[in-house]
Amino acid sequence: MPSIACPFCGLVCDDLLLEEGRVDSRGCAKGAAGFARPEGIREHRIAGGPVPFAAAAAAAATLLAGAQQPLIAGLGADIAGVRALLALADRTGAIVDRWQSAAQLSNLAVMQRAGALAATFGEIANRADVVLLLGRDPSREHPRLFERLLRNRTALYRAGAPWVSYLGPPALAPADIALAVPAPVEASSLVDALAALSAMVRGKRVAGNAAALPLAALGQIAERLKAARYGAILWEAAAFALGEAQIAAALVLHILRILNLTTRCVGLPLGGGDNAQGAAQAMLWQAGWPGRISFATGTPEHDPWRFDAERLLAAREVDALLWVAALSPTPPPATTVPTVALVGPDVTLPAAPAVEIRVGVPALDHAGAVVRADTVIALPLAAARPSALPSVAAAAAAILERIGASR
Ligand code: SF4
Repeated sequence: MPSIACPFCGLVCDDLLLEEGRVDSRGCAKGAAGFARPEGIREHRIAGGPVPFAAAAAAAATLLAGAQQPLIAGLGADIAGVRALLALADRTGAIVDRWQSAAQLSNLAVMQRAGALAATFGEIANRADVVLLLGRDPSREHPRLFERLLRNRTALYRAGAPWVSYLGPPALAPADIALAVPAPVEASSLVDALAALSAMVRGKRVAGNAAALPLAALGQIAERLKAARYGAILWEAAAFALGEAQIAAALVLHILRILNLTTRCVGLPLGGGDNAQGAAQAMLWQAGWPGRISFATGTPEHDPWRFDAERLLAAREVDALLWVAALSPTPPPATTVPTVALVGPDVTLPAAPAVEIRVGVPALDHAGAVVRADTVIALPLAAARPSALPSVAAAAAAILERIGASR
Protein backbone atom coordinates (compact mmCIF):
# COMPACT_ATOMS: atom_id res chain seq x y z
CA MET A 1 0.00 0.00 0.00
CA PRO A 2 1.66 3.31 -1.02
CA SER A 3 2.36 5.86 1.71
CA ILE A 4 1.51 9.48 0.98
CA ALA A 5 2.10 12.86 2.63
CA CYS A 6 -0.59 15.00 4.23
CA PRO A 7 -0.56 18.80 3.65
CA PHE A 8 -3.22 19.73 6.21
CA CYS A 9 -0.83 20.94 8.93
CA GLY A 10 2.83 21.84 9.13
CA LEU A 11 3.88 18.36 10.27
CA VAL A 12 3.30 17.03 6.73
CA CYS A 13 3.20 13.42 7.97
CA ASP A 14 4.38 11.21 5.12
CA ASP A 15 3.26 7.84 6.45
CA LEU A 16 -0.44 7.98 5.55
CA LEU A 17 -1.68 5.04 3.49
CA LEU A 18 -3.60 5.26 0.24
CA GLU A 19 -5.62 2.34 -1.06
CA GLU A 20 -8.19 2.57 -3.84
CA GLY A 21 -8.76 6.27 -3.22
CA ARG A 22 -9.20 5.84 0.54
CA VAL A 23 -6.67 7.41 2.89
CA ASP A 24 -5.72 5.94 6.27
CA SER A 25 -4.70 9.05 8.21
CA ARG A 26 -3.10 7.07 11.05
CA GLY A 27 -5.75 8.14 13.51
CA CYS A 28 -5.50 11.88 12.81
CA ALA A 29 -8.96 13.44 12.63
CA LYS A 30 -7.63 16.61 10.98
CA GLY A 31 -5.88 14.63 8.26
CA ALA A 32 -8.97 12.42 7.77
CA ALA A 33 -11.17 15.50 7.42
CA GLY A 34 -8.74 17.01 4.92
CA PHE A 35 -8.75 13.94 2.71
CA ALA A 36 -12.54 13.62 3.02
CA ARG A 37 -13.27 17.15 1.83
CA PRO A 38 -16.37 17.21 -0.36
CA GLU A 39 -16.00 17.40 -4.12
CA GLY A 40 -18.05 20.60 -3.95
CA ILE A 41 -18.37 23.17 -6.72
CA ARG A 42 -16.48 22.42 -9.93
CA GLU A 43 -17.62 25.28 -12.17
CA HIS A 44 -15.96 28.64 -12.69
CA ARG A 45 -18.00 31.83 -12.58
CA ILE A 46 -18.01 35.49 -13.51
CA ALA A 47 -20.27 37.59 -11.24
CA GLY A 48 -21.97 34.39 -10.10
CA GLY A 49 -22.71 33.02 -13.57
CA PRO A 50 -21.01 29.82 -14.77
CA VAL A 51 -18.40 30.18 -17.53
CA PRO A 52 -15.68 27.99 -19.06
CA PHE A 53 -12.28 28.08 -17.37
CA ALA A 54 -10.72 30.07 -20.24
CA ALA A 55 -13.35 32.82 -19.90
CA ALA A 56 -12.82 33.04 -16.14
CA ALA A 57 -9.05 33.23 -16.62
CA ALA A 58 -9.51 35.98 -19.23
CA ALA A 59 -11.79 37.98 -16.91
CA ALA A 60 -9.29 37.61 -14.06
CA ALA A 61 -6.51 38.81 -16.38
CA THR A 62 -8.52 41.87 -17.39
CA LEU A 63 -9.31 42.75 -13.78
CA LEU A 64 -5.74 42.35 -12.53
CA ALA A 65 -4.10 44.01 -15.54
CA GLY A 66 -6.47 46.97 -15.29
CA ALA A 67 -5.88 47.58 -11.58
CA GLN A 68 -3.66 50.41 -10.36
CA GLN A 69 -2.49 48.33 -7.41
CA PRO A 70 -3.48 44.66 -7.25
CA LEU A 71 -2.97 42.52 -4.14
CA ILE A 72 -2.36 38.77 -4.11
CA ALA A 73 -3.19 37.32 -0.70
CA GLY A 74 -4.03 34.08 1.05
CA LEU A 75 -1.33 32.11 -0.82
CA GLY A 76 -2.80 28.81 0.40
CA ALA A 77 -1.14 26.81 -2.35
CA ASP A 78 1.57 24.24 -2.98
CA ILE A 79 5.05 25.40 -3.98
CA ALA A 80 4.36 25.37 -7.71
CA GLY A 81 1.26 27.46 -7.04
CA VAL A 82 3.14 30.07 -5.00
CA ARG A 83 5.85 30.32 -7.66
CA ALA A 84 3.26 30.88 -10.37
CA LEU A 85 1.55 33.54 -8.23
CA LEU A 86 4.88 35.33 -7.80
CA ALA A 87 5.34 35.35 -11.57
CA LEU A 88 1.85 36.85 -11.86
CA ALA A 89 2.70 39.46 -9.20
CA ASP A 90 5.88 40.35 -11.05
CA ARG A 91 3.91 40.88 -14.28
CA THR A 92 1.07 42.89 -12.71
CA GLY A 93 3.10 44.87 -10.14
CA ALA A 94 1.08 43.31 -7.35
CA ILE A 95 1.72 43.28 -3.63
CA VAL A 96 1.97 39.76 -2.15
CA ASP A 97 1.15 38.82 1.44
CA ARG A 98 -0.01 35.48 2.81
CA TRP A 99 -2.70 36.63 5.28
CA GLN A 100 -2.32 37.23 9.01
CA SER A 101 1.36 36.59 8.47
CA ALA A 102 2.52 38.77 11.38
CA ALA A 103 3.28 35.81 13.68
CA GLN A 104 5.41 33.99 11.12
CA LEU A 105 7.22 37.19 10.15
CA SER A 106 7.95 37.89 13.85
CA ASN A 107 9.99 34.69 14.11
CA LEU A 108 11.72 35.37 10.83
CA ALA A 109 12.56 38.95 11.84
CA VAL A 110 14.30 37.72 15.01
CA MET A 111 16.10 35.05 13.00
CA GLN A 112 17.22 37.65 10.46
CA ARG A 113 18.63 39.97 13.13
CA ALA A 114 19.93 37.57 15.76
CA GLY A 115 20.17 34.09 14.23
CA ALA A 116 18.55 30.87 15.35
CA LEU A 117 19.27 27.67 17.24
CA ALA A 118 16.88 25.45 15.39
CA ALA A 119 16.39 21.72 14.91
CA THR A 120 14.69 19.29 12.61
CA PHE A 121 11.76 17.10 13.65
CA GLY A 122 14.13 14.14 13.40
CA GLU A 123 16.63 15.63 15.87
CA ILE A 124 13.92 16.32 18.43
CA ALA A 125 12.29 12.91 17.93
CA ASN A 126 15.62 11.12 18.37
CA ARG A 127 17.45 13.25 20.92
CA ALA A 128 15.31 15.56 23.06
CA ASP A 129 15.26 14.45 26.70
CA VAL A 130 13.75 17.66 28.12
CA VAL A 131 10.99 19.55 26.31
CA LEU A 132 9.29 22.84 27.15
CA LEU A 133 5.98 23.50 25.40
CA LEU A 134 5.36 27.21 25.31
CA GLY A 135 2.17 29.24 24.95
CA ARG A 136 -0.44 26.62 24.13
CA ASP A 137 -0.98 22.96 23.38
CA PRO A 138 0.77 22.42 20.02
CA SER A 139 -1.33 19.35 19.27
CA ARG A 140 -4.38 21.56 18.70
CA GLU A 141 -2.92 22.58 15.35
CA HIS A 142 -0.55 19.64 14.90
CA PRO A 143 -2.49 16.59 16.09
CA ARG A 144 0.28 13.98 15.70
CA LEU A 145 3.08 16.09 17.15
CA PHE A 146 3.36 14.18 20.44
CA GLU A 147 3.18 10.82 18.69
CA ARG A 148 5.89 11.71 16.19
CA LEU A 149 8.27 13.87 18.24
CA LEU A 150 7.80 13.02 21.92
CA ARG A 151 6.35 9.51 22.11
CA ASN A 152 8.11 7.83 19.21
CA ARG A 153 9.24 4.39 20.32
CA THR A 154 12.30 4.11 18.11
CA ALA A 155 14.29 7.13 19.31
CA LEU A 156 17.97 6.59 18.57
CA TYR A 157 19.67 8.67 21.24
CA ARG A 158 17.39 8.87 24.26
CA ALA A 159 16.44 6.08 26.61
CA GLY A 160 12.78 6.90 27.17
CA ALA A 161 10.15 9.54 26.74
CA PRO A 162 11.34 13.12 27.40
CA TRP A 163 10.61 15.13 30.53
CA VAL A 164 7.89 17.53 29.36
CA SER A 165 6.80 20.82 30.90
CA TYR A 166 4.38 23.50 29.81
CA LEU A 167 4.45 27.27 30.28
CA GLY A 168 1.24 29.02 29.29
CA PRO A 169 -2.44 29.59 30.04
CA PRO A 170 -4.01 26.66 31.95
CA ALA A 171 -7.01 26.66 29.61
CA LEU A 172 -4.71 25.98 26.64
CA ALA A 173 -2.51 23.36 28.34
CA PRO A 174 -1.97 20.04 26.58
CA ALA A 175 -4.27 17.32 27.87
CA ASP A 176 -2.81 14.46 25.86
CA ILE A 177 0.65 14.27 27.37
CA ALA A 178 1.90 13.88 30.94
CA LEU A 179 3.37 17.15 32.14
CA ALA A 180 6.13 16.80 34.73
CA VAL A 181 5.87 20.47 35.59
CA PRO A 182 3.05 22.72 34.40
CA ALA A 183 3.83 26.41 34.87
CA PRO A 184 0.48 28.17 34.51
CA VAL A 185 0.53 31.81 33.40
CA GLU A 186 -2.09 33.73 31.51
CA ALA A 187 -1.23 34.94 28.02
CA SER A 188 -0.77 38.50 29.29
CA SER A 189 2.11 37.35 31.53
CA LEU A 190 3.85 34.97 29.13
CA VAL A 191 6.58 37.40 28.13
CA ASP A 192 7.25 38.23 31.81
CA ALA A 193 7.45 34.50 32.54
CA LEU A 194 9.95 34.00 29.71
CA ALA A 195 12.03 36.89 31.02
CA ALA A 196 12.00 35.26 34.47
CA LEU A 197 13.03 31.91 32.97
CA SER A 198 15.83 33.68 31.12
CA ALA A 199 17.10 35.12 34.43
CA MET A 200 16.86 31.73 36.11
CA VAL A 201 18.89 29.86 33.46
CA ARG A 202 21.55 32.56 33.91
CA GLY A 203 21.42 31.99 37.66
CA LYS A 204 20.23 35.55 38.27
CA ARG A 205 17.52 36.92 40.52
CA VAL A 206 14.16 37.52 38.83
CA ALA A 207 13.67 41.27 38.48
CA GLY A 208 10.43 43.24 38.14
CA ASN A 209 6.95 42.28 39.20
CA ALA A 210 7.16 38.52 39.61
CA ALA A 211 4.33 38.10 42.09
CA ALA A 212 1.94 36.69 39.48
CA LEU A 213 4.50 34.24 38.08
CA PRO A 214 4.83 30.53 39.00
CA LEU A 215 8.41 30.98 40.19
CA ALA A 216 8.82 27.53 41.75
CA ALA A 217 7.74 25.78 38.55
CA LEU A 218 9.88 28.11 36.43
CA GLY A 219 12.85 27.32 38.66
CA GLN A 220 12.34 23.57 38.11
CA ILE A 221 12.07 24.05 34.35
CA ALA A 222 15.26 26.13 34.33
CA GLU A 223 17.17 23.46 36.26
CA ARG A 224 15.93 20.64 33.98
CA LEU A 225 16.85 22.58 30.85
CA LYS A 226 20.33 23.22 32.24
CA ALA A 227 20.77 19.55 33.14
CA ALA A 228 19.38 18.21 29.85
CA ARG A 229 21.59 16.45 27.31
CA TYR A 230 19.39 17.83 24.56
CA GLY A 231 16.63 20.26 25.46
CA ALA A 232 13.99 21.64 23.12
CA ILE A 233 11.58 24.57 23.36
CA LEU A 234 8.53 24.34 21.08
CA TRP A 235 6.19 27.26 20.50
CA GLU A 236 3.78 28.85 18.07
CA ALA A 237 4.23 32.57 17.55
CA ALA A 238 0.46 32.86 17.13
CA ALA A 239 0.08 31.94 20.83
CA PHE A 240 1.43 35.36 21.77
CA ALA A 241 -0.44 38.64 21.73
CA LEU A 242 0.10 40.74 18.65
CA GLY A 243 3.27 42.72 19.18
CA GLU A 244 4.70 40.27 21.74
CA ALA A 245 5.56 37.40 19.38
CA GLN A 246 8.84 39.04 18.37
CA ILE A 247 9.82 39.72 21.99
CA ALA A 248 8.96 36.13 22.89
CA ALA A 249 11.05 34.75 20.00
CA ALA A 250 13.97 36.96 21.04
CA LEU A 251 13.68 35.79 24.67
CA VAL A 252 13.57 32.13 23.59
CA LEU A 253 16.69 32.69 21.49
CA HIS A 254 18.38 34.37 24.46
CA ILE A 255 17.54 31.40 26.71
CA LEU A 256 18.84 28.98 24.06
CA ARG A 257 22.10 30.92 23.76
CA ILE A 258 22.70 30.73 27.51
CA LEU A 259 21.89 27.03 27.66
CA ASN A 260 24.15 26.24 24.72
CA LEU A 261 27.17 27.53 26.65
CA THR A 262 27.02 24.35 28.72
CA THR A 263 24.67 21.90 26.98
CA ARG A 264 22.54 21.59 23.88
CA CYS A 265 19.09 23.14 23.58
CA VAL A 266 17.15 23.99 20.43
CA GLY A 267 14.05 25.96 19.50
CA LEU A 268 11.33 24.79 17.17
CA PRO A 269 8.85 27.47 16.12
CA LEU A 270 5.72 25.69 14.93
CA GLY A 271 3.16 26.77 12.40
CA GLY A 272 3.31 26.08 8.71
CA GLY A 273 -0.35 25.29 8.06
CA ASP A 274 -1.46 26.19 4.53
CA ASN A 275 2.13 25.60 3.38
CA ALA A 276 3.13 28.83 5.15
CA GLN A 277 6.77 27.77 5.22
CA GLY A 278 6.66 26.80 1.56
CA ALA A 279 5.23 30.21 0.66
CA ALA A 280 7.93 31.96 2.72
CA GLN A 281 10.68 29.83 1.15
CA ALA A 282 9.42 30.43 -2.40
CA MET A 283 9.25 34.18 -1.77
CA LEU A 284 12.80 34.10 -0.38
CA TRP A 285 14.11 32.17 -3.40
CA GLN A 286 12.45 34.38 -5.95
CA ALA A 287 12.25 37.83 -4.39
CA GLY A 288 14.69 37.85 -1.47
CA TRP A 289 12.08 38.36 1.24
CA PRO A 290 9.83 35.84 3.03
CA GLY A 291 6.61 37.87 2.77
CA ARG A 292 4.92 41.25 2.38
CA ILE A 293 6.55 42.04 -0.94
CA SER A 294 5.57 44.63 -3.52
CA PHE A 295 6.46 44.27 -7.20
CA ALA A 296 4.92 47.68 -7.99
CA THR A 297 8.20 49.40 -8.85
CA GLY A 298 9.54 46.54 -10.94
CA THR A 299 11.99 45.55 -8.17
CA PRO A 300 10.80 43.47 -5.19
CA GLU A 301 10.43 45.63 -2.09
CA HIS A 302 9.64 44.44 1.44
CA ASP A 303 7.82 46.39 4.11
CA PRO A 304 6.07 44.61 7.00
CA TRP A 305 3.66 47.50 7.57
CA ARG A 306 3.00 48.96 4.11
CA PHE A 307 2.49 45.59 2.46
CA ASP A 308 0.29 44.00 5.14
CA ALA A 309 -2.70 42.62 3.20
CA GLU A 310 -5.20 43.25 6.02
CA ARG A 311 -4.12 46.88 6.35
CA LEU A 312 -4.11 47.41 2.59
CA LEU A 313 -7.66 46.11 2.24
CA ALA A 314 -8.95 48.03 5.26
CA ALA A 315 -7.40 51.25 3.98
CA ARG A 316 -8.51 50.49 0.39
CA GLU A 317 -4.98 51.06 -0.87
CA VAL A 318 -5.51 48.30 -3.44
CA ASP A 319 -8.12 48.13 -6.18
CA ALA A 320 -8.05 44.41 -7.02
CA LEU A 321 -7.63 41.31 -4.87
CA LEU A 322 -6.55 37.87 -6.02
CA TRP A 323 -7.43 35.55 -3.11
CA VAL A 324 -5.89 32.09 -3.08
CA ALA A 325 -7.11 29.28 -0.83
CA ALA A 326 -6.50 25.83 -2.25
CA LEU A 327 -5.21 24.10 0.89
CA SER A 328 -7.61 25.20 3.62
CA PRO A 329 -11.22 26.13 2.78
CA THR A 330 -10.80 29.79 3.69
CA PRO A 331 -13.10 32.29 1.97
CA PRO A 332 -11.77 35.71 0.97
CA PRO A 333 -12.02 38.45 3.60
CA ALA A 334 -15.09 40.67 3.48
CA THR A 335 -14.19 43.55 1.18
CA THR A 336 -15.66 45.76 -1.51
CA VAL A 337 -12.42 45.52 -3.49
CA PRO A 338 -13.10 43.62 -6.75
CA THR A 339 -11.95 40.08 -6.13
CA VAL A 340 -10.75 37.10 -8.11
CA ALA A 341 -11.15 34.02 -5.91
CA LEU A 342 -8.89 31.05 -6.66
CA VAL A 343 -10.42 28.68 -4.15
CA GLY A 344 -10.87 24.98 -3.53
CA PRO A 345 -14.15 23.33 -4.55
CA ASP A 346 -15.51 23.23 -0.98
CA VAL A 347 -14.94 26.89 -0.12
CA THR A 348 -18.21 28.68 0.65
CA LEU A 349 -18.14 32.19 -0.70
CA PRO A 350 -20.28 34.65 1.29
CA ALA A 351 -20.91 36.75 -1.85
CA ALA A 352 -20.22 36.21 -5.54
CA PRO A 353 -16.77 37.66 -6.33
CA ALA A 354 -16.05 39.33 -9.66
CA VAL A 355 -14.38 36.11 -10.82
CA GLU A 356 -14.42 32.71 -9.19
CA ILE A 357 -12.02 29.98 -10.33
CA ARG A 358 -12.35 26.65 -8.59
CA VAL A 359 -8.93 25.06 -8.17
CA GLY A 360 -7.90 21.62 -7.03
CA VAL A 361 -6.74 20.81 -3.50
CA PRO A 362 -3.09 19.68 -3.48
CA ALA A 363 -2.84 16.01 -2.40
CA LEU A 364 -6.47 15.42 -3.29
CA ASP A 365 -7.08 16.68 -6.83
CA HIS A 366 -3.49 16.91 -8.00
CA ALA A 367 0.09 16.15 -6.99
CA GLY A 368 2.47 18.83 -5.71
CA ALA A 369 4.91 19.60 -2.91
CA VAL A 370 4.77 21.49 0.40
CA VAL A 371 7.44 22.47 2.94
CA ARG A 372 7.37 21.00 6.46
CA ALA A 373 7.22 23.32 9.51
CA ASP A 374 10.89 22.66 10.36
CA THR A 375 11.70 24.00 6.85
CA VAL A 376 14.26 21.30 6.09
CA ILE A 377 12.34 19.39 3.50
CA ALA A 378 9.77 19.83 0.76
CA LEU A 379 7.66 16.71 0.62
CA PRO A 380 5.96 15.46 -2.52
CA LEU A 381 2.18 15.07 -2.48
CA ALA A 382 0.26 12.44 -4.41
CA ALA A 383 -3.22 12.96 -5.87
CA ALA A 384 -5.51 10.83 -3.69
CA ARG A 385 -8.62 11.70 -5.72
CA PRO A 386 -7.38 13.07 -9.06
CA SER A 387 -9.69 15.49 -10.83
CA ALA A 388 -9.71 17.81 -13.82
CA LEU A 389 -9.76 20.95 -11.66
CA PRO A 390 -6.83 23.24 -12.47
CA SER A 391 -4.10 23.63 -9.87
CA VAL A 392 -3.29 27.12 -8.57
CA ALA A 393 -0.15 26.96 -10.72
CA ALA A 394 -2.22 26.17 -13.83
CA ALA A 395 -4.80 28.86 -13.05
CA ALA A 396 -2.15 31.52 -12.36
CA ALA A 397 -0.30 30.55 -15.55
CA ALA A 398 -3.53 30.81 -17.57
CA ILE A 399 -4.20 34.30 -16.17
CA LEU A 400 -0.61 35.36 -16.84
CA GLU A 401 -0.80 34.09 -20.41
CA ARG A 402 -3.90 36.22 -21.05
CA ILE A 403 -2.35 39.31 -19.45
CA GLY A 404 0.62 38.84 -21.74
CA ALA A 405 -1.73 38.97 -24.70
CA SER A 406 -3.86 41.90 -23.50
CA ARG A 407 -1.20 44.37 -22.26
S1 SF4 B 1 -0.77 15.72 12.07
FE1 SF4 B 1 -1.08 17.17 10.41
S2 SF4 B 1 0.13 16.39 8.69
FE2 SF4 B 1 -0.11 14.72 10.18
S3 SF4 B 1 -1.89 13.59 9.47
FE3 SF4 B 1 -2.61 15.09 10.96
S4 SF4 B 1 -3.20 16.93 9.78
FE4 SF4 B 1 -1.96 15.59 8.46
